[in-house]
This record gives sequence, structure tokens and C-alpha cells, in this order.
Amino acid sequence: MKITIIGTGYVGLVTGACLAELGNDVFCLDVDQSKVDILNNGGIPIHEPGLDDVVARNRAAGRLQFSTDVAASVAHGDVQFIAVGTPPDEDGSADLQYVLAAARNIGRHMDGFKVVVDKSTVPVGTADKVSAAIADELAKRGKNEGFSVVSNPEFLKEGAAVEDFMRPDRIVIGHDQTTEGLRAHALMKKLYAPFNRNHERTYWMDVRSAEFTKYSANAMLATRISFMNELANLADKVGADIEAVRHGIGSDPRIGHSFLYAGCGYGGSCFPKDVQALERTARDYDQDLLILRAVEQVNDFQKHVLGKKVVKRFGDDLSGKHFAVWGLAFKPNTDDMREASSRVLIGELVRRGATVAVYDPVAMKEAERVLKLDFADDAKLFDRISFAANPMAALGDADALAIVTEWKAFRSPDFDRVKAALKNPVIFDGRNLFEPQVMADIGIEYHGIGRSILT
Ligand code: NAD
Repeated sequence: MKITIIGTGYVGLVTGACLAELGNDVFCLDVDQSKVDILNNGGIPIHEPGLDDVVARNRAAGRLQFSTDVAASVAHGDVQFIAVGTPPDEDGSADLQYVLAAARNIGRHMDGFKVVVDKSTVPVGTADKVSAAIADELAKRGKNEGFSVVSNPEFLKEGAAVEDFMRPDRIVIGHDQTTEGLRAHALMKKLYAPFNRNHERTYWMDVRSAEFTKYSANAMLATRISFMNELANLADKVGADIEAVRHGIGSDPRIGHSFLYAGCGYGGSCFPKDVQALERTARDYDQDLLILRAVEQVNDFQKHVLGKKVVKRFGDDLSGKHFAVWGLAFKPNTDDMREASSRVLIGELVRRGATVAVYDPVAMKEAERVLKLDFADDAKLFDRISFAANPMAALGDADALAIVTEWKAFRSPDFDRVKAALKNPVIFDGRNLFEPQVMADIGIEYHGIGRSILT
């Protein structure tokens, strides 16, 4: 099938590459010329395991092309996926300017029937706005081409995006029951047929339910995290071990083990903005989502928990102190720094006068770019950050090590070397990677999240 993907970011690039891998002829459009240049020169603008191979293979086979040519992109695909960003607006609502710009471009150039697929995460009712934008542009041209707007939210996880896309738990597709909507159903069914060979994974529904499903899923996952974080903070006070509690409750099949990890807060481009956007939608309908408001508050607090533990141990004034930070990306296997907890911790440490040596297996370049922006109004703070070549190099002479991202490479370090390199053998573990008892036996002072039973 001939497919156009509008927006070649994490979702668009993975979607385009994976659909090409299944034999489709895919045209990826982006407004960012530098991104398109990188891709056309055989590079990949993001870190995503396995993606480089899929992109290279399909480019070489002539099934995957990258361009900034809007007219050509609209002409190419019978199915037009909109996969542009939907960042939070000032009031927390999803900013739809990129989605609607993409829709207008389709209306401006289309000839013949198109299925327009909202793959971006968009609030309930957005498909109507996309339809209106396309219809408006068609009317300006005096055209009456048929089209149908379908909602097909994406559930892939950064860091496992290719695997998730190729083996999805579910595919959610919302369409209407008009003649065009049923035509769209038939095309989407054909496009996704290879994913449904072993068993049916597609959930067909109306457009609004599909839009709502995506927000509900992310809100539920964020809720589990904040719930465990709040309990972990209490566990610290009452002297319980949240890791033991996690196993104890996760074994109940009604609860399950997934997404029960306490830590130093969730980040990324999805949970924070999607929780906010859902709250905002609710307010538009005069409803207050009390649970989600608390989920957000707990997460804001949680991003400061490591900083608070450092202050409790070393005092308010950290001038003259030096800390090592392992893990900068908002989660492992990605270089994505959006809303990463590391930014909050580093900000707190340098503002209190400390210097910081940081290390991340893949996010160093992106971290440098983002931290420079974080401290744009006070470059002296940025100068307190040094970027280490490897985890051990970050430790030299540090008063303590703080771990913010649970990269596999941090799970079993040589603790004797860690201890020897640090000025003080102190670890603040924001992801509960280590066992307090093991740390105590080695002689490392250990501060986990909800694990203060021994400290
Ligand atoms: P991203 O910022 O990585 O990529 C968006 C791309 O769209 C950018 O390259 C940008 O230049 C391009 N763009 C903007 N306007 C354009 C236009 N008019 N025409 C062509 N290209 C345009 O964003 P992302 O992380 O891929 O997220 C995209 C959407 O998918 C968001 O709504 C997000 O919430 C959702 N989503 C993201 C994830 C994830 O893990 N990142 C998972 C599921 C859903």
C-alpha cells in the first residue's frame, strides 16, 4: 500500500520504517530539513534500538523515502498518518497547531479519496477539528474530494519502539459509520492485516472512544507510578521496604507486577503532558479529575525526592560539594530528555552550589543541549556540570553518587571500584537498583526510595 507519514519523530519514524518493513511503499514527511537530511544521508536522528537496521534496509529496498515536499507527500499516500508532536499548551491542553497544520496541508493538495489517520495523541474531538480543517481547505479550492479521519493512537514505548510496533498488544482504530468511514475501515484492515495473522489484535470502535483510550491508558500507568511513589515515601517514614511490598501486592493477579516500581518520578514526552491534557479536557466539561490531579502533584514532588535526600544528608548549602549522576534520559534505552527527572536533580544540586559530573550511555549529546537550555539565564550554573566519558570517570572525588535512570549497565557495577572512587561511599538510588543489605555489607551508605528500613 502507499502510505504517507507526516512527522518523522519517535512515532512517525518507527511507524514509517515498520510499515515499509512489511512491504508498503512509505513516504515520510517532516518540516525539519536537518532531520530529513540526516535520514537521507543514512543517519538516524534519535536513539531507538534496532531502528537503524530497519530504516537502512527499507531505504535500500526503495520502500522508504524522506522529504520536506508537502505536495509530493500528499500525492503519495492513500493513507496519510499524522504523527506530529502535540506538546502541552500553556494551560495544559494539547497544542494542536502541528496536527491542524498537517491536516490543512492535506486539504490543500489532495486529489482523490484519502484516509487521514490521527496517530498523534490528541484530545477527544480532535478528529472533528481535523475533518473541518481539511474540508475548509478543500472548499477554498472548490473541491469535493472524499476523505475519512480515523483515530489510531500509538502505544509504543520509547526504548522498545520497533519491537512494540511489530508485536503490538493491541491496535486501536476508531472510525465513523459513514460510507467514507467504512471505506477507511477496509483500508486500515488491509494495512494492519499482517499484525493480526496469529490472533486478532485490533479493537474497532468509534473515533471518540479511540481518542479517549490513549489518554486513559497513559493516565492509568501514571497513576500506578504515583501511587507506588506515595506509598514509598510513607514506607521511608514507617520503616517498611517498598520493594518487599511491591512483590507482596503484585502477586495478586488483580493487581499484577507491571508498573509498580517506586522511583524518582516519571518523565518523558507522554505521561506528563497526557495526564495534564486529560485533566484539561475534563475541566472543559466541568469535571475535576481528582485522582489525576493528585497523580501529577505526587510526581512533581517525587522529582525532588533525590534532591531532598541529598540535602538531608549534606545540608542546604552544597557549595564545595561534588556529585556524580548516573542516568540522564527519562528512561533507559532512549536519548529522550523531555521532562527527565535528572534535570530536576541536577538543577537542584548546581543551584545549591554543588558541581556535578554526569554520565548516560546514549543521552550525553542531547543532555548537553537540553541542560544548556535549562540554564540559559545563568550560564555559570551550566559550567558546574561536567560530562564524563564513562560511569567510573564520573565518580572521581564525588561526595556521593545519585542514580536517576535504570540503565542495565548500572545494575551490577564493581562496588569495590565505586567505593574506592567516591570521596564518601554514599549512593542515592532513585530507581532502587540495589539491595540495602548488600550495600550495608559492602560498607556503602545507601539511600533508596522507600527502602529506609536499614538506614
Ligand atoms: P517528535 O517531536 O519526536 O516528532 C514530531 C515530528 O513532527 C518532528 O520531527 C517535527 O519536526 C514534525 N512536524 C511538526 N509539524 C509538522 C508538519 N506540519 N508536517 C510535517 N512534520 C511536522 O514527537 P513524537 O515523540 O514522535 O510524538 C508524536 C505524537 O505521538 C505525539 O502526539 C505523542 O504524544 C504521540 N506518542 C508519542 C510516543 C512516544 O513514545 N514518543 C508514544 C505514543 C504516542
